[in-house]
Amino acid sequence: MENGSRNRENGSRNVLKPMDSEQLREYGHRMVDFIADYYKTIESFPVLSQVQPGYLHNILPDSAPDHPETVEQVLDDVKTKILPGVTHWQSPNFFAYYPSNSSVAGFLGEMLSAGLGIVGFSWVTSPAATELEMIVLDWIAKMLNLPDQFLSKGKGGGVIQGSASEAVLVVMIAARDKVLRSVGKNALGKLVVYSSDQTHSALQKACQISGIHPENCRVLKADSSTNYALRPELLQEAVSRDLEAGLIPFFLCGNVGTTSSTAVDPLGALGKIAKSNEMWFHVDAAYAGSACICPEYRQYIDGVETADSFNMNAHKWFLTNFDCSLLWVKDQYALTEALSTNPEFLKNKASQENLVVDYKDWQIPLGRRFRSLKLWMVLRLYGAETLKNYIRNHIKLAKDLEQLVSQDPNFEVITPRIFALVCFRMVPTDDNDEKKCNRRNLELLEAVNSSGKLFISHTALSGKIVLRCAIGAPLTEEKHVKETWKVIQEKASCLLPK
Ligand SMILES: *Cc1c(COP(=O)(O)O)cnc(C)c1O
Repeated sequence: MENGSRNRENGSRNVLKPMDSEQLREYGHRMVDFIADYYKTIESFPVLSQVQPGYLHNILPDSAPDHPETVEQVLDDVKTKILPGVTHWQSPNFFAYYPSNSSVAGFLGEMLSAGLGIVGFSWVTSPAATELEMIVLDWIAKMLNLPDQFLSKGKGGGVIQGSASEAVLVVMIAARDKVLRSVGKNALGKLVVYSSDQTHSALQKACQISGIHPENCRVLKADSSTNYALRPELLQEAVSRDLEAGLIPFFLCGNVGTTSSTAVDPLGALGKIAKSNEMWFHVDAAYAGSACICPEYRQYIDGVETADSFNMNAHKWFLTNFDCSLLWVKDQYALTEALSTNPEFLKNKASQENLVVDYKDWQIPLGRRFRSLKLWMVLRLYGAETLKNYIRNHIKLAKDLEQLVSQDPNFEVITPRIFALVCFRMVPTDDNDEKKCNRRNLELLEAVNSSGKLFISHTALSGKIVLRCAIGAPLTEEKHVKETWKVIQEKASCLLPK
């Protein structure tokens, strides 16, 4: 008894040494081996986790352990209890949503970032974190051939956000405050946002958080006649109508590669309308931006010079482990005027003298990770030419799949493929019943995904259920795409009327 209480007071026994170098070396090597083995055997797991809701609750204890357990025990549980509940995003047979690339380079960068363990909110908290981020974002801006105004040498610059959703939110807040500074803050209820109905739901969330009135969100219809791109005339009409009603158009979101079907909006024409109405023009190229480092795909961001901000997720198709969303703005002061704070406890000479960028003022949280390390690793260990060929290879695989689909009379390609996403469906049977057709396509989706052999996802375009096969996982090769198509055909043949 007495012993126990003394121990509690002076903590002389069981003092934790949470960062022991030799233990890190030993356990770290073991963890790397564990992960390498995972990648080696990744094809043996069902791609989509097949567990039922609550499965983990039933097999893990109700409370945390009082005393240390061993790494072996934990890794054992990872194998037997966690992995069954994992959907294998890095599987070569993962074709759902959009890819979320990992790579050895990205992995090493993540490790180094965890190892340094810094929190780089202000320049002074780790100058290299801020400066490397500025440099790699300039590098990628040049690879994308973005106009110079997005580079850090002038008023503009790039920043790493956690997600495309955060990117659109911060620029919307910047745009909102900029317009309210000139028209007065009581005008919030008059601000109007425009986008096509193909725009990611992240925009709606940004409106909800920014206090934009729901009735002032113009969701403009896009259809198959433009391959789901927004028609500039439609935007112009909506803007004119709102101006006549005394409202204030202030924000336009354009898309390069929508989530449903990779639709590309005509940036130049949209940007012109935005400019002549003094609206902020944000371009969401979360997925397809990566492809635009290839000269032959750069055309899809033509017109980006009219944008105020541009966003691409390096964590989707650019080999940089999640999370790493790249945002460029032409006017960094629009962001910092909306988001900067200057509490006493963070004051420092470099910031006070305006000598540096403090990225805390470009984002929602204060704390931020050293995410530029993994991006820098990717750029240096692979190089621009290799990255271009990586993208090209996926696009070629998608082109081949598109061919296979179009050759099968039971299937049709819905909207022409542009990047590495193929949108298709089983065609309606003789009775041309669209409802029945939708049901059958959902049955097909369920059948292929519950096979565990592959994972695809779906969307709806003009009321049609569409299956999406997004090629872009780092391990995907031609054989995986061919096998996937075979499984889809097999499952479809079971659903067709005999
Ligand atoms: C994936 C995606 C998003 C959302 O990405 P997060 O980074 O998860 O917020 C937004 N827009 C498009 C076009 C996307 O493909």
